[in-house]
Amino acid sequence: MVSVSFEGFTGNTHVRQTLAAALRDGRLPHAILLEGDEGTGRKTLALLLAQALVCTAAQKPCGVCTPCKKAAAGIHPDITVVEAQGKAGMITVDAVRAVREWFYVRPNEAGYKVCILPDAGRMNTHAQNALLKILEEPPSYGVFVLTVLSASELLETVLSRVSPFTLLPPSRADCAAVLQKRLPKADPARIAYAAGVFDGNIGKALRLVQDEDFGRQIAYSLDFCRAMVSPNEYDLLVLTGKIEKDRELMKLFLPIAVNILRDVISHKTGAGVYITAQEAQLAEIAEHLRVDQALEAIDIFGRAQAALQSNANGPLLATWLCASLKRAVCS
Ligand SMILES: [Zn+2]
Repeated sequence: MVSVSFEGFTGNTHVRQTLAAALRDGRLPHAILLEGDEGTGRKTLALLLAQALVCTAAQKPCGVCTPCKKAAAGIHPDITVVEAQGKAGMITVDAVRAVREWFYVRPNEAGYKVCILPDAGRMNTHAQNALLKILEEPPSYGVFVLTVLSASELLETVLSRVSPFTLLPPSRADCAAVLQKRLPKADPARIAYAAGVFDGNIGKALRLVQDEDFGRQIAYSLDFCRAMVSPNEYDLLVLTGKIEKDRELMKLFLPIAVNILRDVISHKTGAGVYITAQEAQLAEIAEHLRVDQALEAIDIFGRAQAALQSNANGPLLATWLCASLKRAVCS
């Protein structure tokens, strides 16, 4: 008897089980949409799904049969991944048309043909309309897996043709366990910190743990929060200058800063469980910050993160951040 399981994928039990059951019973939708934040494993799950579709073992995906190995190596002829390309990072209408030609030729080796479109929101209207034509008349053996940050990135007409699933980060503890398994030599304290700061988001936490500048990001974030509450405006201007030029630093720093402020609020309210800093460091910031100001600053950092994700201009965003925070903290 055939069985399908995505146990290797952490968290999201309901999504995992629903997809596995559909695949096992031969009723997998022709087009699947995986919606979730960056780092929630959308592409990992898409690839596992593709692997299970071509796997020849009874327990899919087995990971050891030839089709599974080809799929994992990215060389299976019946699986294609259409990445965004070029300076603008778009999936062009030509790329979608090429997929269309590929798709309508019967599978070479497997019973299915699988096309993965990571960041499907990077298709413009033309490209989405070209895709729609395929989604309206998919070949019986064809499966599309699209991933997006938010379903709102796709046209209504495309959305009406896909079965959506939302991926959420697992618990912090599960995230830490996955990271420790993947990086056995990494410092557990560093892993716990990253899993905490990114609320269990495996992809983001992994990036922070692997970052050579790990200590620098944390020190920078603490310095920034200190400068934010300091009457001396010069320090904050100097620190803002750094993220203006360094988008990667800004990406890591924003969520750390949010968590520092959450810890500051915990300190002020006596909750007492901190993930980002020593109590003395938090007390120093807490002294100059009311809870309502901290909450407003968290909201501002959150808006900056959203803007960064939708490709906002770095220097402008850094300037806006600095000015908004000063206003919030001095009010
Ligand atoms: Zn296999």
